[in-house]
Amino acid sequence: MAEAKEKKKKSTAKSTTRERSPKRKAEREPPTKGAEAESFERVLVSRRVSYAVAARTERAHAVGAALERLYPDPRCELDYETPFQLLIAVILSAQTTDKRVNSIAPALFGRYPDAVALAKANLFELREILRPIGFFRAKARAIRGTARLLVKKHGGEVPRTMGELVKLQGVARKSANVVLGEAFGIADGIAVDTHVARVAQRLGLTKGGTVRRMELDLMELTPRERWAKDHLRLVLFGRYRCLARSPLCEGCPLRSGCLAPEASAAR
Ligand code: SF4
Repeated sequence: MAEAKEKKKKSTAKSTTRERSPKRKAEREPPTKGAEAESFERVLVSRRVSYAVAARTERAHAVGAALERLYPDPRCELDYETPFQLLIAVILSAQTTDKRVNSIAPALFGRYPDAVALAKANLFELREILRPIGFFRAKARAIRGTARLLVKKHGGEVPRTMGELVKLQGVARKSANVVLGEAFGIADGIAVDTHVARVAQRLGLTKGGTVRRMELDLMELTPRERWAKDHLRLVLFGRYRCLARSPLCEGCPLRSGCLAPEASAAR
């Protein structure tokens, strides 16, 4: 009898412990009002995000189509004959115009047509050729350094991967993207230069921030097979129409979806 009483006592104690366990309580009870509201809010936020992405994708399609009509067959405006010459021209085009780089290209590539020749260049002579494009001392060092690395590590050829290209002197992700797309037809990303960044922000394709953030936004909105050409189209549009200071908004085919204040003023 005493034994039975003892057993009952133990089982009552167990069930009390079970009831008091917060985990079990949460499992049994329905979600509180606050928890429901929170999950509803989460659904709303995720829907708003999907609508925003869908709207941006639609906008990107419209922009892509309009730019394709304007520039059906866009070309890089740098003069070059080989991937090596393109790489060097791209390095030299930092903080200057393609036109200026083209103006010294015949002298430069006439004297140093490949990596082997440029690797042996006399720095003083090289600087004199580069003088008209600005930053000629740093650029001379950079292109000769790059040529030496190409000879040492890649048999004088331009590597075809982002990882190898960005190890070269004066080559960052933007330049590497241009070389990969233009010389080899490889789409690893979208080069974001000053024109691409400006146009993409005005057209609401990216909220801006870092260059990498903008590149990722554009990559998300553009089919991979269009990356290289759409980059060139954005560059041409930014260079000749959607200018930084006084964009030519009158008659612009993208004006209706443009967020720039200049576009509203022209309406
Ligand atoms: S409307 Fe003006 S600012 Fe907008 S994309 Fe066209 S040229 Fe650029």
